[in-house]
Amino acid sequence: MKINTGDFVMPGDFLSVSEQFLPGDGAYEDDGSVKSATAGNVSIDKKAKEISVISKSNGPNLLKVGDIVYGEIKDLRGQRALVTVHAKKGETRELALPYLAAIHISQITPGYIDKITDAFRIGDLIEARVVKIMKDNIDLNTEDRDCGVVKAMCTKCRAEMDPVNQDEVYCPVCDRKEKRKVSSNYEE
Ligand SMILES: [Zn+2]
Repeated sequence: MKINTGDFVMPGDFLSVSEQFLPGDGAYEDDGSVKSATAGNVSIDKKAKEISVISKSNGPNLLKVGDIVYGEIKDLRGQRALVTVHAKKGETRELALPYLAAIHISQITPGYIDKITDAFRIGDLIEARVVKIMKDNIDLNTEDRDCGVVKAMCTKCRAEMDPVNQDEVYCPVCDRKEKRKVSSNYEE
């Protein structure tokens, strides 16, 4: 199926192979394909080799249960990590509201972790799934393999750390490891 300018597409619809076009607004790359992040009409810029989707909905960009989001660990309080939600994955529009969410220690990994600092540190960037929304209270979960820390900074020197495995990152400056709940999407 060939996609043309003006075609109506839904979120997740295939638009192009990524060798052919770059994802523009309203589109994202997923494993060699460019897909639509929104419901709207396709716009192809052949010069820039960019394919975009112009969203029809001008409604507010709110979070809903099931959304995958990017956020930053703001604070660690007892059994909970507090997260500033920056964006929805695959959505170029800004969120309508500044969201503060929480992850309970039991929602971090499928297994048991002793203390929350074994999974997250303040300043870490994470990918997480929205599991509950109650008015202003938003709960996130990072149990999935592709959820968790996508970028960590060394607690000693603030250098960017490299992933070692699913629960460790390494600081090349200090030559030491720290514990994290590492996402399979960790940015290397
Ligand atoms: Zn370091």
